[in-house]
Amino acid sequence: MTDENSVNKIRRKIIEGIMDEGKSTNENPIESKPKNFIYEIIDEDIRTNKLGGRVHTRFPPEPNGYLHIGHAKSICLNYGIAEHYGGKFNLRFDDTNPEKEEQEYVDSIIEDVKWLGANFEDRILYASDYFEQMYNWAVELIKKGKAYVCDLTANEIRATRGTLTEPGIESPYRNRSVEENLNLFERMRKGEFPNGSKTLRAKIDMASPNFNMRDPIMYRIVHAEHHRQGDQWCIYPTYDWAHGLEDSFERITHSICTLEFENHRPLYDWFLDELGIYHPQQIEFARLNLSYTVMSKRRLLQLVKDSYVDGWDDPRMPTISGYRRRGYTPEAVRNFTEIIGVAKRDALTDISLLEFAIREDLNKNAQRAMAILRPLKVIMTNYPDQVEELDAVNNPENPIAGTRKVPFTKELYIERTDFMENPPKGYHRLMPGGEVRLRYAYIIKCEEVIKNSQGEVIELRCTYDPETKSGTGSSKKKVKGTIHWVSAKHAVETEVRLYDRLFSSENPGAEENWLEHINPNSLEIIPSALVEPFLKNAKPGNRFQFERHGYFCVDTKYTTSEKLVFNRTVTLKESWGKTENQK
Ligand code: ATP
Ligand code: MG
Repeated sequence: MTDENSVNKIRRKIIEGIMDEGKSTNENPIESKPKNFIYEIIDEDIRTNKLGGRVHTRFPPEPNGYLHIGHAKSICLNYGIAEHYGGKFNLRFDDTNPEKEEQEYVDSIIEDVKWLGANFEDRILYASDYFEQMYNWAVELIKKGKAYVCDLTANEIRATRGTLTEPGIESPYRNRSVEENLNLFERMRKGEFPNGSKTLRAKIDMASPNFNMRDPIMYRIVHAEHHRQGDQWCIYPTYDWAHGLEDSFERITHSICTLEFENHRPLYDWFLDELGIYHPQQIEFARLNLSYTVMSKRRLLQLVKDSYVDGWDDPRMPTISGYRRRGYTPEAVRNFTEIIGVAKRDALTDISLLEFAIREDLNKNAQRAMAILRPLKVIMTNYPDQVEELDAVNNPENPIAGTRKVPFTKELYIERTDFMENPPKGYHRLMPGGEVRLRYAYIIKCEEVIKNSQGEVIELRCTYDPETKSGTGSSKKKVKGTIHWVSAKHAVETEVRLYDRLFSSENPGAEENWLEHINPNSLEIIPSALVEPFLKNAKPGNRFQFERHGYFCVDTKYTTSEKLVFNRTVTLKESWGKTENQK
């Protein structure tokens, strides 16, 4: 996926995708072709009436962390399918592991799924609500002689699982009578046994070439408080046992999951077939992996707990809440997940595709503004003591966005990097004796450079040419460079946070010591940047393009009534690895 051609191809698709937005998909002749292999399977199921011609999908997160961009892919895929076929979509918490789950995660997940626009109507469901039904189903399997209580410890079970070439060893408890199993299982539920002392296992085949079929665990004893069930239960179902039951109970038609569950599908099918209950179709697809990003919740949790980042919603995190705080829009995230498609093989997706999708969206929609990140004072010695209101374009991509007035005065600030005392050849910005155009204003000439006692440039004395006012066409004078500026008297002081990739390794998850590959320069805080006066009314979450700097949004966490904080959402162009001057 990372080779140049395919990246360009996908970029084109992203642009087309954005331009197509709003068009009904039915109007597009290309749409008659299935979008991906999952649509092909569902088309066929509908044609053969396999699942009653219905489509009902779900997103089943475990509430043990915040959602990330990989989850966004799964949500968009599942909801997109339900929407496409006029079916339904459930949000279901797979809350079967009380020790790692918390209400905070449940709340954040609901907020994130809603933000992405996936409509689950009133269906926020919890696997823990089905515990009683699951217990009864387990009793049924025991009665059929298909499950037994085992006294081996977790380590012993692991040690007797066998290898790829050797079958596992049958548990000495495997042939307990149905009566004994029913009795022990009931006492497990009642809390008579300590953690880890017993499990309920399916009785399948210790010699199966598929490890998952070697008498897998269905229940383990965990005396722990559940975030919804309290201390009602002390036995908890495993993922393999619970997941198909949850899907069956909700009458899901297509249970879409990531590739690592392919080998679990025979077990998924076995449980449902043995119970003889409604049987959804499990379909696997390749999970999203993004370059320069870790995606496992365990690792994201570590970044949060050990304060490598400032919470789950740190704008450098690949979480949905981090991206939201950073200024990404749900439209751009959805478009990205659509365009990268759905594959059957794992691959590493280039993060620049995500950034590209964000830029394309913001380019259309973000209001332009001028902001000076590293100010250098300019005094226009021949300009009168007055305030001139100049017209600036709000968004060249959107004619109805109109124009605004920008105050121009004798004292301005320009970007420190837009002046060089000894510039290299081809430098088109300001230099001693050189000329440059001020955006929406005049051409100015640098007449004098003022330095402090350390020899640092602290001010430029310039003259302006009144004949060169932008938009008036009264002068034929042309210069190569145009730079942005703010009026010293009117500018608003703000904090600006510049983000870079959190990792400097392309595939940090594959590194032995992944934490050593954290990019030490992933956050730069500029405490006093200067922005155009109209921005003082900006509200948390508002997005802008700071001309020549990138897209920014007002931070929702640290902005106060006294101080605006801006997050850089994304640079204007790809600039990874370049210095600030080259950006
Ligand atoms: P982790 O292994 O990092 O804890 P998970 O997959 O166990 O993540 P869940 O809460 O179980 O997290 O995931 C909910 C759903 O999201 C599952 O259906 C899972 O397949 C899907 N999902 C998780 N990660 C990705 C990913 N990177 N790409 C696509 N889908 C994903
Ligand atoms: Mg999981």
